[in-house]
Parts: sequence; C-alpha cells; structure tokens
Amino acid sequence: MTSQNVVDLHAKARQDYEAFKARGLKLDLTRGKPAPAQLDLSNELLTLPGEGLYKSADGTDLRNYGGLTGIPEMAEIFAEGLQVPAAQLLPLGNASLAVMHDTLVYALFNGVAGGEGRWIDQDITFLCPVPGYDRHFALTERYGIKMVTVPMTDEGPDMDVVEELVAGDASIKGIWCVPKYSNPTGASYGDETVRRLAAMPTAAADFRIFWDNAYAVHHLTDEHDEILDVLAAAAEAGNPDRVFVFGSTSKVTFAGSGVAFFGSSAANVKWFTGFLGKGTIGPDKINQLRHVQFLKDSKGLAEHMRKHAEIVKPKFDAVERILSERLGGTGLATWTQPKGGYFVSLDVPEGTAQRVVELAKEAGVALTPAGATHPYGDDPADRTIRIAPTFPVLSELEVAIEGLATCVLVAGYEKQL
Ligand code: PMP
Repeated sequence: MTSQNVVDLHAKARQDYEAFKARGLKLDLTRGKPAPAQLDLSNELLTLPGEGLYKSADGTDLRNYGGLTGIPEMAEIFAEGLQVPAAQLLPLGNASLAVMHDTLVYALFNGVAGGEGRWIDQDITFLCPVPGYDRHFALTERYGIKMVTVPMTDEGPDMDVVEELVAGDASIKGIWCVPKYSNPTGASYGDETVRRLAAMPTAAADFRIFWDNAYAVHHLTDEHDEILDVLAAAAEAGNPDRVFVFGSTSKVTFAGSGVAFFGSSAANVKWFTGFLGKGTIGPDKINQLRHVQFLKDSKGLAEHMRKHAEIVKPKFDAVERILSERLGGTGLATWTQPKGGYFVSLDVPEGTAQRVVELAKEAGVALTPAGATHPYGDDPADRTIRIAPTFPVLSELEVAIEGLATCVLVAGYEKQL
C-alpha cells in the first residue's frame, strides 16, 4: 500500500523533472578533470624551461638520452607529499595509471622482487575496496585477475575483512588503495588502517599493496588529512617490500602533460628499474625540468595547491549545499563531504542508482555510469553514484546538481510507489 504522501511527493518530483528536462541542457559530471581555470594556474609551464635552459642541478644536459630514473630535483619536491624518500621516488612519464599498468605487467611476467614466480602462471586475486576507482578495476580485469570487493569505511577498507581474506587465501596478491581523499568517497585512511595493512600476515609471501596516492596534496581547506607513512610502517612491521607507491601531477599542473611517480623500497625500485630500462632510455626530463622551475619546492607545491583549492572548494560547497537542501531529511540519499580530492560519493536507495543515471541522461546531465565504482561495473546494491564536481563552471555545476537531486527524488519515490 502506498501512502498518499508518497504519491504526491512523486508527482511533484516528476513535475520538477519534466521542467528540468524541458530546459534542454547539456551538462557533464562524469570525469574528474581539472577545470580550465585550474589549468590556467600552470600556464607558466607553456613557456618553460626557457631559452637556453636545459641542464639539471648537477649539470646534466637534459635534452639527451639517459636519466632513466628521472631528475632528482623533481623527486625532492614530491618526496614529502608522497611520503617516499627522494632517493626511492622515481619521476617518470605523464601518467601514473601507465606506471601502475606497467608495474602490474612486470609482476605478471616476472614475479615481484623476492617473489614466488610469475603471477601470470598462477590464479591471482586482487582486493578491491568499494566504492573505488573504475580504471583500477578495468586494468585488473583486462589482465584476467580476479577481483574481490571489500567495503570501504570512513577510515579506509574494512580491515577485519581484509585481514581475514589475505590470511586465508594465497591467491590474493594485491590490494588497490587510494589512501588519501579516496576516489570516490574522499575518505582518508586512519593510522590504524595503514598500520594493519602494513603489518597483516598474508598467505601470499609476495603480496603487494598498490598505494595510489593520487590526491596526496589535493586539500580543499587548511585542515589537511594526513595519513601514516606506509613505507615506514611496512618496514617497521618487517614487510619492507610490501608497498608500491604511485602518484602524479595530473591534477597539480596539466592533466596528461604532467609527471608521474613510482616509489617503493630500494629493492623494489631496483626490480622496477630493471624492467623500465627495457622499454625506454629515459623519461621526458625537459618536462620534469619545467615542473621543477615552476613548482620550485614542496612549499611552492603547497602554495600552488592552495590556488586550486580556491577554485575547487566552492564547487564542493555547492554540491553539499544543494544536496542538503533538496535531499536532506528525505531519507533518500546520503553523501560524503570530502576535505580534499576530486569526488563526492552519493548513495541512493538500493536498486535506484541506474535509474537515477538514466533519468539524468534523459534530462541532459551526464553522470559516471552507475556501477563504475565497483569491479566489473557491477554494484550489486545498485546504490552508489560518483559525482565529479571540478570540471563545470560553478553556475553549471549548480544546475547539474539540482537536476541530479530531482532525479534522485523521482527514482526514490518511484520505488516506494
Ligand atoms: N588514480 C586515481 C585514484 C585517480 O582518480 C586518477 C584520475 N582520475 C588517476 C589515478 C589517474 O592519474 P594519472 O593521470 O596520473 O594517470
């Protein structure tokens, strides 16, 4: 039996929806891209390194081949943010995703340092905290690796679940982690989570944590989430080679024309470099020089990130304000309030996420497909929607979130009818 109240609420939401749709808008909330105003912050890069400037601090001519492990000045700038000693942090090409891909392929074809043979010869499994980053899952799926989900909490993956799984199943070789301002919930891992990940007994002796610290320096306010140093924690726990750290300047300077990083223990860096050198004689060191000139040091980096926050924070505020106004108290949605990163995760009533995305599409608002936050694109509860607020200008974002809220109401009340 449906109460008259729900019938009325649904009718009103439907009316709002039709009015929104009639505006014939075309808005895009799909991918976490920096807005043009953010890219403008780094325009100085377009004229760097500048006439006659092509040498690194130690006098190396960066125009030439060589320098496989990147220029040390670039590592210095990010060592603090990524929590990797500069000597073990390699500035590489333009995409951390490519570095993750290659690291996985090296492990598949060769096994990891001190490992137990090639991963490709074994049935292997990765743990995937959900909701998580779709490209991690797509990469893992592409290489035939089985994925097992673990629920995310506000403090990172549910460690009781993780510990039990890795202790009992030797096929589990890895876990994907976005430890700070995670994609898409914005949660940062608690110290206890990091300690347990670093120290937990694993049935596979060659277990690795893929620590994708993509949002290490991407704070929205002056109140920064800080996470425990996972490399140090792993070393202390007697697992010095457990962690591969990844990061990039994709959302610091130019997405697609930045610098990516690989960081790990000395043994793992040696392992990684051995394969890296078979595929390239060296990275784009001129781009690295440009970045060094532009960002200067970790202080320069922090100042630059504050400018990003000035642009991005009002957008996150708008998402919070509109979702609260339109959906607060309805019992139809919960959402995250990140202090950094690029996403907000919106949970709608079970079984309605796809419907919300479909309604939004029909009304001209493109959202990341429902399910994208889960391996195989399958969110069994059909509940989670990722919101990427950074790219549209504020006025367009506000309209898009209004439209999204209306779609949540339509789908939510529709389910109750
Ligand atoms: N990791 C995470 C968690 C991301 O959200 C993104 C971008 N959406 C990336 C990696 C991609 O980084 P890159 O541009 O360095 O490949």
